[in-house]
Amino acid sequence: MSLVVMKFGGTSVEDPAAIGRTAAIVAGRVASGKTPVVVVSAMAKVTDQLLRCAAAAAQGDRTGALAISSRLRSRHRDTAAALVKDQKEAVTLINWIDQKFDQLDEVLRGLAAILELTPRISDLIVSYGERLSSRMIAAAFCERGINAVHVDARDVIVTDSQFQKAIPIDSIIEMRTAEKVFPLVSEGKVPVMGGFIGSNEAGITTTLGRGGSDFTGALVGGAMHADAIEIWTDVDGIMTSDPRVCPDALRVKVISFEEAAELAYFGAKVLHPATILPAVKKNIPVLVLNSKNPTNEGTRIISLAPHCKSPFKSIAVKKKLSIIDVVASRMLMTHGYLKAIFDIFDKHQCPVDMVSTSEVSVSLTVDSNDKLPAIAADLGKLADVKYEGKKALVCLVGEDIRGQSGMAAQVFGAVRHINVRMISQGASEINMSFMIDEEDADEAVRSLHAAFFKEPDPEIFDVEARKAAVTS
Ligand code: ASP
Ligand code: MG
Repeated sequence: MSLVVMKFGGTSVEDPAAIGRTAAIVAGRVASGKTPVVVVSAMAKVTDQLLRCAAAAAQGDRTGALAISSRLRSRHRDTAAALVKDQKEAVTLINWIDQKFDQLDEVLRGLAAILELTPRISDLIVSYGERLSSRMIAAAFCERGINAVHVDARDVIVTDSQFQKAIPIDSIIEMRTAEKVFPLVSEGKVPVMGGFIGSNEAGITTTLGRGGSDFTGALVGGAMHADAIEIWTDVDGIMTSDPRVCPDALRVKVISFEEAAELAYFGAKVLHPATILPAVKKNIPVLVLNSKNPTNEGTRIISLAPHCKSPFKSIAVKKKLSIIDVVASRMLMTHGYLKAIFDIFDKHQCPVDMVSTSEVSVSLTVDSNDKLPAIAADLGKLADVKYEGKKALVCLVGEDIRGQSGMAAQVFGAVRHINVRMISQGASEINMSFMIDEEDADEAVRSLHAAFFKEPDPEIFDVEARKAAVTS
């Protein structure tokens, strides 16, 4: 049995046409002898709208909240009607959808009276997105000849009680998949469950954090010792850089877990880094695939990257950053300054991306945010402080940076026309990053791409696509 967990993101289930394509992809896997377990996100934008609806209710805007919910109800009813042609099935499904929205509206009315949105209630409200999509998609699959069965993910993904960012409990998830999912696949059925949602041991609904459906995919894949995990999205996989900035960007055919995670931290939005950990631990390959272009072979993420002739796999950029310069001559020859500085960031719960220090100065980068004036005021009690926004971090990722000499010279040679503000070679030894003005970011990426992907290794990068583009 070749077990494959197939996770479909919001854009892969955004409307009846997308759900139809998704069904065809799953049917194709079944036809080729694979045993799929399907994990789906909420339909595109539904999670955002549910959160908006919760926020409106909590501010006392009962009418506004119910209006959003009513639009979501119509969207789900219409999608169900378009997907399920069997009259009896359609009526059952639409009645069930109505019931769920009646429940949701009850919660929203209560919230508009109480005016307090707790993380627990937020998780309850937002969970409707995946609860609705998964049940509806299971029905659509059945209609298309797939022996699908809906599984409530909350019965399987058991977590602690940190609402909005709950931590899964692996041992229980393993037991629950053995009880509730394995028997289905051994009967030849295709389980369909929602991503992102879970429940604590008392059965109260939790969520794994935004983008958490990938995480569900990896958890289920890990617990079931799947042969592969497929993450279906709307891009061809991980690219050597953003194709909108760099038209000759190439698809990366194979990349290591470590490199993919590094890229995700730096804003490449293909995968959520923590999500692949359950797969890494069990050595399960993860494939990133495009549901709008299903014959493309995507990007394969594996634990050990094969050797690549190019030092880098990809160039990522994180924009909207600020740089904070802290200069204290008092710091000379003393200890404890860095701690004092970091305590201030900790107090304001502001994560720091990159740090560089000299004997008397410290520069730090953070996401531009409205806490900066308060942070600067606190830092000002210790030292002279300046901060400046509109910065970007450019990050080159590749396992083969390790132990290569002259790499920094090549990188900074390629961007010699651009003013570099801060440099760091990541502790992981697989990234090299530097900070520049945001307005220089696109030019920097293009120059680096031209320098490092002139003769891309065909084992690692999809050079065929580039050739095809040139000749067509
Ligand atoms: N629907 C959730 C979100 O938008 C989870 C996911 O799609 O991964 O964050
Ligand atoms: Mg997603």
